[in-house]
Amino acid sequence: MIKIINTEEFSYFLRVNRNEIIKRWMAKNEVQNVLHRHSLPIIEKNTHLFYEFCDCFISVIEWRATVSECHVKIEFLQLLNNYNVTTADLFSLITKLKNAIEEIIYENGNLSFALQSEIESLTLQMGNDLASNFEIIIGGNQNYKSENSNLLAEYKKAVDLSNIVSKTNPKGVITYVNDKFCEISGYSRDELVGKPHNIIRHPDMPREAFKDLWDTIKAKKSWNGVVTNMKKEGGQYIVDTTVIPILDVDGDIVEYIAIRHDITELEETKQQLKNINKAMKNKVDELYSMTNTLEQKAYKDNLTGINNRENFEEIFALEIGSANLNNQPLSLIIFDVDNFKLVNDTYGHQAGDILLKDVVSLIANNIKNGDIFARWGGEEFVILTPATDLNGAYNLAENLRKLVQTYMFKYVENTLTLSFGIAQLSKEDTKKSLFEKADKAMYEAKNNGRNRTEIYQG
Ligand code: GH3
Ligand code: MG
Ligand code: MG
Repeated sequence: MIKIINTEEFSYFLRVNRNEIIKRWMAKNEVQNVLHRHSLPIIEKNTHLFYEFCDCFISVIEWRATVSECHVKIEFLQLLNNYNVTTADLFSLITKLKNAIEEIIYENGNLSFALQSEIESLTLQMGNDLASNFEIIIGGNQNYKSENSNLLAEYKKAVDLSNIVSKTNPKGVITYVNDKFCEISGYSRDELVGKPHNIIRHPDMPREAFKDLWDTIKAKKSWNGVVTNMKKEGGQYIVDTTVIPILDVDGDIVEYIAIRHDITELEETKQQLKNINKAMKNKVDELYSMTNTLEQKAYKDNLTGINNRENFEEIFALEIGSANLNNQPLSLIIFDVDNFKLVNDTYGHQAGDILLKDVVSLIANNIKNGDIFARWGGEEFVILTPATDLNGAYNLAENLRKLVQTYMFKYVENTLTLSFGIAQLSKEDTKKSLFEKADKAMYEAKNNGRNRTEIYQG
């Protein structure tokens, strides 16, 4: 198989195979159907016209003539008109002629991609030119036609002025671009026509987007979407794109027309807003979690969630003031977990943490709402009981002590016990002195064998 890449080889090939091309064309079912349907006899004169038309067509394909120079075209079209052939049939005849040429090329040679796309675009031009001539002949009404084509020209002008327009052949090779297309992409028309459309593809565009586009238009449906394209000198532009497949009479795709609006500014503004929103959201989240942490740090103990020491000391001062003012009793209970080191040593520090949390929630569920429960540090806790005298505090401490000693905690086999010390606020007491009293009592409890409650004795 030879590879045809240059125009001389191509011309030579077409000339050598001219008779075969015409024979194939005339023998095609669709061509035969058109002839039969319209009872178009292939008498000598008619045959001659078909041959001459084919010759012209081939000249155009091999660049020896332009479509308008095809001297026989009007005669040929008139012949078709005499037999009431329609524009659709005309397209069918042209498409089949193109098919006959391509078939022979495929059988004998291997056409370069550029030449192949050239055939597509020349056939298209030829088809459009003949169709408009044919319609003039069919209509026979010059005025109507020219009014119509004026209108069409106006439409085209309006579309071209306000949109970025391009056409490609079915393989995606560019056959037409308007001025706006050149302007926005930075390419000249010559640099674009004949090139695959992906010349303006931006590397950031996901492959799936183009797969969807091609799947849709190959299925003969229009596609719409936002596409980022790349300019010749780098940089991007964003376009709202509609691609419309144009079909011939057989329903085959002959070309694609793409109409686009430049929405770069809009998209970039949208992106900026999105970024700002995201940054703001992140900042708000950050602030929120900072506030949370600060709040927690200020008031709560990290491990157990109850009041921390700093918070407790503030409340402690307020409660002393309030008790003195209202002449109400106020008692302080301090307790410390017995032999907690052993728990850590035996079950590990993590189990120790869980145990501390469990002890705290057990105690928290068994004190009054108004009692203030806090972690003093380590495994030492305080309960401040407003409006409660020594007796009441003692009873509470004892209840809690018994509760804990009989409770089955997770992870530890033996029972867990607490030692309590209690003291009641006296007139001369400060925060510090009341604390020391209760603490002293707690140490008494430790010294007296643990798992006990001791009252501060003056
Ligand atoms: P005692 O009966 O005399 O109180 O004996 P103890 O073993 O409990 O001794 P002490 O109170 O002096 O030691 C407390 C231990 O508790 C020491 C420390 O490692 C541990 N501890 C303190 N805070 C935590 C904590 O948050 N988690 C864990 N797992 N252990 C802690
Ligand atoms: Mg202890
Ligand atoms: Mg301790």
